[in-house]
Amino acid sequence: MVIPRKKRVIPDGLWIKCEGCSGLIYRKAMVERFYVCPECDYHFRIPAWERIRITLDEGSFQEFWPDMEPADPLDFKGYKEKVQTEQKRTGLKDAALVGTGTIHNRKIVFGTTDSNFIMGSMGSVVGEKIARAAALAREKRLPLVIISGSGGGARMHEGMFSLMQMAKTSAALFSLREANGIFISVLTDPTMGGVMASYASLGDIIVAEPGALIGFAGPRVIEQTIKKTLPEGFQTAEFLLEHGFLDMIVSRQDMRRELSRLIDFMVGPSDEAEVKVANGAEQIPNVTTQETAGPFSTKEDRGKDQNETTENQI
Ligand SMILES: [Zn+2]
Repeated sequence: MVIPRKKRVIPDGLWIKCEGCSGLIYRKAMVERFYVCPECDYHFRIPAWERIRITLDEGSFQEFWPDMEPADPLDFKGYKEKVQTEQKRTGLKDAALVGTGTIHNRKIVFGTTDSNFIMGSMGSVVGEKIARAAALAREKRLPLVIISGSGGGARMHEGMFSLMQMAKTSAALFSLREANGIFISVLTDPTMGGVMASYASLGDIIVAEPGALIGFAGPRVIEQTIKKTLPEGFQTAEFLLEHGFLDMIVSRQDMRRELSRLIDFMVGPSDEAEVKVANGAEQIPNVTTQETAGPFSTKEDRGKDQNETTENQI
């Protein structure tokens, strides 16, 4: 099976058509299941702020470097306009959000890329944020978790400056490893190209969501190059797990629990988290359907306390 790389966004409306089973599903039921189809378990692509909301403890995320915006070093035709359009549409300055937050009361450095913003591609801003997140994790001695959704790979509009980010993020992660830091990389649909070929594949543990398209070049390019038909399910998370490239596949509903378990396993359980779980205080973050704002609501909807700038911390 070759999965077409078309742009998938969640349309508005009470009922939506599932990309996985083509069935008509009730939007509210899908949103309540963390944007997963109740019929076939298809994992819809979700925006960065939704990812933060369903992954971290409620209200715990503190964004770092929120005002970093892409430059246009090559004066690439139409890039400035494209960035402005995407910024308006998504409410993001660029495809990555990084900061600190907690999972089960355990503090981590957290980053995520949004495939809705120029396919989540890595230009100088995404690369810089990921590299700084790694440096922050090293300095603060915190686990680093990055959830990638980047179908675009390196962003062509910034040319060599984008390609440089592959080396820069890799070097930053190597530095984290030298300091015995921990990096868990979570791959979601899609994680491709220069993102997959750099930081996303360098996790101490590599986790993926079910059915995610993961790879370097797209399947069509590979087929044209090697002049062979690719095997069934090539570049899906399941195929890569079977061939040893991934450590585990975790469904979105279990992701918080699994990330917490992995961190506990790697650095030892936190006393605070243990007490909370023992007391039954741990809860899945409050899931709202956001009927008015929709899943693409901007960060302005989410409370000003998350927007604090901490530019000078590292
Ligand atoms: Zn479905």
